[in-house]
Amino acid sequence: MNTEDLAARDAYTREADGTVIDLAPEGVVLDRTVFYARGGGQPGDTGRLVWQGGEARIVDTYRKRGAHIHEIEGDPPPVGTAVHGVIDWDRRHTLMRTHTALHVLSAIIWRDFDAKVTGGNMEPGTARMDFELDSISVEFGKQVEDALNAELDKNHPVEVKLVPRAEALADPDLIRTKVNLIPDSVDPIRVIDIGDIDRQADGGTHVANTGEVGPVRVVKTESKGKANKRIKIELI
Ligand SMILES: [Zn+2]
Repeated sequence: MNTEDLAARDAYTREADGTVIDLAPEGVVLDRTVFYARGGGQPGDTGRLVWQGGEARIVDTYRKRGAHIHEIEGDPPPVGTAVHGVIDWDRRHTLMRTHTALHVLSAIIWRDFDAKVTGGNMEPGTARMDFELDSISVEFGKQVEDALNAELDKNHPVEVKLVPRAEALADPDLIRTKVNLIPDSVDPIRVIDIGDIDRQADGGTHVANTGEVGPVRVVKTESKGKANKRIKIELI
């Protein structure tokens, strides 16, 4: 069941028409959607579906058994129904700001401290990222916060590019971020460029410009073990 994924092309599309093409136990599958399916640390979209004679909340969106599933509260519309989907835009836009902030954070830690990312996760407005750092401190957190805000404030453009797989596999920036772990069937590979400071293979949604993230605070630094240090950030 192939769903045209509108968020992959334009993160700013907030609503779209579609048709129900399948019903999974968890929810509805559409032919096209603006709802982002959970992945790469970014939560799935919430919102609502409206159709002739009905309306329902979408409480999560994710991929399961290859399908792009809109988890629905209440009775789903039958297969073949024309629907209008609307995402909770404030929540999604906050996630876009948060996601872009994390990419800039990872770029700074790599540029200034040669440390790679080992993991990460985000909620709207807050996020954590783990790095291969030997040590971490409150002062370090403050230093990172200053560098992060300085870069965000430079209004770097954030661009989505589709890069042929062979080219992506040969790109040192993408190798660093483990592009080789992307399944062989994925070609071209979706890449997010943030000015000249960051380049990552990524399926998520981002703001168009780092200035749109606004200021960010480092709220916590903690050790999660040897060569694994956690930084928590919050949008202000
Ligand atoms: Zn990402």
